[in-house]
Amino acid sequence: MDNDEFRRHAHDMVDWMAGYLETVSERPVRAQVQPGDITAQLPVAAPDAGEDMSDIMADFEKIVVPGITNWQHPKFFAYFPSNSSPPSVLAEMLVTTMGAQCMLWQTSPAATEMETRMMEWLAKMLGLGDGFEGVIQDSASSATLVAILVGREKATNWAANEEGLKAVQPLAVYASAEAHSSIEKDVMVAGLGRKALRKIAVDQNLSLVPAELEAAIEADIAAGIKPAVVVACLGTTGTGAVDPLRAIGEICRRHDIYLHVDAAWAGTALLLEEQRAMIDGIEHADSFVFNPHKWMFTNFDCSAHFIRDSEALVKTLSILPAYLQSRETGSVIDYRDWSVPLGRRFRALKLWFVIRSMGVDGMKDILRNQIKWAEDLEATIAAEPEAELLVPRSLTLLTFRWKPAGMTDDAELDAFNEKLVHAVNDDGRLYLTQTHTSGHYAIRFVIGQTNTTSEDVTSAWADLKEIAGNI
Ligand SMILES: *Cc1c(COP(=O)(O)O)cnc(C)c1O
Repeated sequence: MDNDEFRRHAHDMVDWMAGYLETVSERPVRAQVQPGDITAQLPVAAPDAGEDMSDIMADFEKIVVPGITNWQHPKFFAYFPSNSSPPSVLAEMLVTTMGAQCMLWQTSPAATEMETRMMEWLAKMLGLGDGFEGVIQDSASSATLVAILVGREKATNWAANEEGLKAVQPLAVYASAEAHSSIEKDVMVAGLGRKALRKIAVDQNLSLVPAELEAAIEADIAAGIKPAVVVACLGTTGTGAVDPLRAIGEICRRHDIYLHVDAAWAGTALLLEEQRAMIDGIEHADSFVFNPHKWMFTNFDCSAHFIRDSEALVKTLSILPAYLQSRETGSVIDYRDWSVPLGRRFRALKLWFVIRSMGVDGMKDILRNQIKWAEDLEATIAAEPEAELLVPRSLTLLTFRWKPAGMTDDAELDAFNEKLVHAVNDDGRLYLTQTHTSGHYAIRFVIGQTNTTSEDVTSAWADLKEIAGNI
């Protein structure tokens, strides 16, 4: 494809992009396809001759678009949002065009220095206090893996890296029973073994119980096992529970244990001064992660990972073969030493575009509105005789179940609610997902897509009621 053709197609595609965003609310939210539907439309082998972009684009519309779940649909209330915004998309277009590899300062100086500065902006925007340095990871899962690796190395004085785990005392990692599955996976990947993860009991708010954490730590120490890492979660994925950070932090300091904070979703709410009670005790944290790619208007992938001791991080992950040395090695940041993969995308540009274009105040307005709509919905649910809140609202996450008049049997209610979630998502007007909490099948309703309006929330509730009535 020559540059003139590229220019023509690129203009057409920008028109497609704007049109998609204009009409996405007319599409079903969750893709209405069956497993194999897409595969059946894709040739079993690659074409030998190049094809016209117009043919490729026609197939994209015909095959791909119907097979996509529309995360930017204003009635997407499932999982957590993976929201986007026009300035983020524009930045990604530029990044992809330059196709820069940002592993070393030298391979993209602007990307490195922008990344450092954006992480400084974010630390201030969230009120994280002084003393953190930052790196953008591809995901919270990766940030937590890195945290566990650093904690592992600190606990073994870097012997695990040198000799392998066979040469060191057994280690343990602690997180609440409600913590994200990525923590268990990261413990496995770090070679500690799944059983090294202690799932600490939670209270009636589903928050970790500090006394249980300390008891588990002491039991491990007595058994000759070394506590290496505690992961505190601010905003669990199931129900949005918040662990008591200060109490956990004090335990970690008493026992000299690495403390990582997973605020993947809820961290964005820290832009709002009135939400900062959850980071009381942050001075005890060794690292903190949140995902601008969830709720902060920035396309996946963009996970903000703050670290207190970058020297320990680099010592854990740095390897310097001759072909990666540069004149600047040692005097600049080479972010390849801050994450597991060597190659890195230029992820800071979209943050720069989003933050400048929306302004911190613009983002705060949207978040405050969404939290207000969640409060309104909480009141609606409380007033609805056929619905029952199962967990107090957390920011914009509501966890409830439908309770048809006269239905009291728990198993019957579970089956009804599961049916309801499937019926809602097959209907396509909105998208919801489920969790299990205190033994019940529960429906999660999360507000957070960039373009959602209060009317979208109220009409979604009306849709849900109508669909429930038809079951
Ligand atoms: C979404 C989520 C994760 C995983 O985030 P990725 O960026 O997809 O790895 C981890 N922890 C919590 C609490 C989450 O909500």
